[in-house]
Amino acid sequence: MEPMTEVTDNIHTTQEQIAELEQQSGRPRGSVTLIAVSKRQPVSKIREAASAGMRDFGENYLQEAVEKQQQLEGLYDLIWHFIGPIQSNKTRGISENFDWVHSVDRSKIVRRLSEQRPLHLKPLNVCIQINLSEEETKSGATSTQAAELCALTDSLENIRLRGLMAIPAPTDNREAQRDNFIALSRLFDTLKSKHPSMDTLSMGMSNDYGPAILQGSTMIRLGTALFGPRPS
Ligand SMILES: *Cc1c(COP(=O)(O)O)cnc(C)c1O
Repeated sequence: MEPMTEVTDNIHTTQEQIAELEQQSGRPRGSVTLIAVSKRQPVSKIREAASAGMRDFGENYLQEAVEKQQQLEGLYDLIWHFIGPIQSNKTRGISENFDWVHSVDRSKIVRRLSEQRPLHLKPLNVCIQINLSEEETKSGATSTQAAELCALTDSLENIRLRGLMAIPAPTDNREAQRDNFIALSRLFDTLKSKHPSMDTLSMGMSNDYGPAILQGSTMIRLGTALFGPRPS
């Protein structure tokens, strides 16, 4: 059994590192939002993180997320981010149960999220997921598709275009990590000049959030760094 303080310790250590990286990159304290990625982790760990002050949580699977949200109902005022691949039959559940979606990569999904967002909720915050290595078959829009998706998202009701997200191919090579983040950051600046509501660059995970923050990330999504290895 892990001691109950481990998650809390990890959160504090990470928050200190984030503050240092914000300073190194000449940005004000608090300019980077830390999302705790709780996929496949038990509700007890979410509770511990929330007690330690975390409010933003990321989940990849709709059903798992909704079950956890029900167990936590009324306990904390949490902000839920959907970060996993989106099948079109899941858009209703996502638009009803999340505050943010980071993994939008095609127009059909954007349209459905807009149509299905309940009117009593605030507009759903949307980031377009970018595929940085365009030749590989994985989720994410190309830069050309991203321009079209941003324009579409910006034009629809009940959703709000906030920014871009990417999951670069895993590598421990710091230079490769940095190059990916620079590319994403440039694309972000270009699109933001047309869409001023864009204020979010969702990049950086447990093994690369340092270089991501130094290249302008405003949201990092950390799982293992906060909660330890995911149970399979
Ligand atoms: C799982 C996941 C993360 C967290 O990954 P760690 O390496 O555990 O920090 C971040 N973003 C997305 C999209 C994920 O699926």
